[in-house]
Amino acid sequence: MTTLGTATAAPGEQATGRLTVGEARDGSAVSLPVCLINGERDGKTLYVQAVSDGDELNGLGVVQRLVPRLDPEDIAGELIIVGIVNWYGFQTAEHRNPIDDTKTNRAYPGEEDGTTTERIAHATFSAAVGADLAIDLHQGSTSRMINEVRVRCGRRHRLHRDCLDLAKTFDCGHVLDQRGPDGQLARALPDEGVPTIDPELGGCVGWNEESIRYGVRGMMNVLTDYGFLDGSVEQSEQVRANGFDQYGSPTGGLATLRPALGDDVARGDTLFEVTDTFGAVKETVTADSSGLLWRARRLPQVAQGEYVCSIATGLDSY
Ligand SMILES: [Zn+2]
Repeated sequence: MTTLGTATAAPGEQATGRLTVGEARDGSAVSLPVCLINGERDGKTLYVQAVSDGDELNGLGVVQRLVPRLDPEDIAGELIIVGIVNWYGFQTAEHRNPIDDTKTNRAYPGEEDGTTTERIAHATFSAAVGADLAIDLHQGSTSRMINEVRVRCGRRHRLHRDCLDLAKTFDCGHVLDQRGPDGQLARALPDEGVPTIDPELGGCVGWNEESIRYGVRGMMNVLTDYGFLDGSVEQSEQVRANGFDQYGSPTGGLATLRPALGDDVARGDTLFEVTDTFGAVKETVTADSSGLLWRARRLPQVAQGEYVCSIATGLDSY
């Protein structure tokens, strides 16, 4: 029997329920939607969560499609899924929790009697800590970004190889292998012995079909490769980056990117032009070093110094 909040599932059963994480301003209970899929056969435990950032809906799109495809009778082991983590941000499609202006993925492992975000982090961390593997579904917020997977424990961590293997199995084709800031789930959970990845499923407003498909495929790859489902997965080589060069605009105006997302760039290549209202070119910005166009702003209008794009650096493959 496995239990999370009001959900309870015996072997061979699936259950949905709610995990209480606090009270809203009107005194009503705040609870997260959770799903347990308890396989008929024994196996590993996978923890999955989505919408840690309230405007990142692709992960929810993945959960919505994945759960109806899974039959507990076909599964060995169990899945623990929290469908919406940042409940407060989700209500208003904001990245951060508007009650405490905090990003969930800086609050792990959380505090039982802390702020609203710390309480959510504590409740979800507690649900995840007994798992064998964990997946925290994110995206590049509403910026434009390639589909990639992040390994955040750092290269010296004892679980680094396990996290890299999990990222390779998820197989978005690109991996950022860079120690994350304090408070990230994908950094805090490996310290408890749980290999964890943070798939970043593109970046969009609302849902992006292609990114959701990457996510569903990645989840099915993990479930198959780690023995939850029968079958085998062919591993493909991943392009790995270890950091970013960020480019801001040297002038105010309208920025137009030259390379497409995912394109390789060489030192000296034009990254973007900034034009004025009437189309005259004010500045052309070139790459300081070679890399790959990983992320870019969505809107063309930029102030002087405002973020335009990120070039991934330190590329290799594994
Ligand atoms: Zn995120």
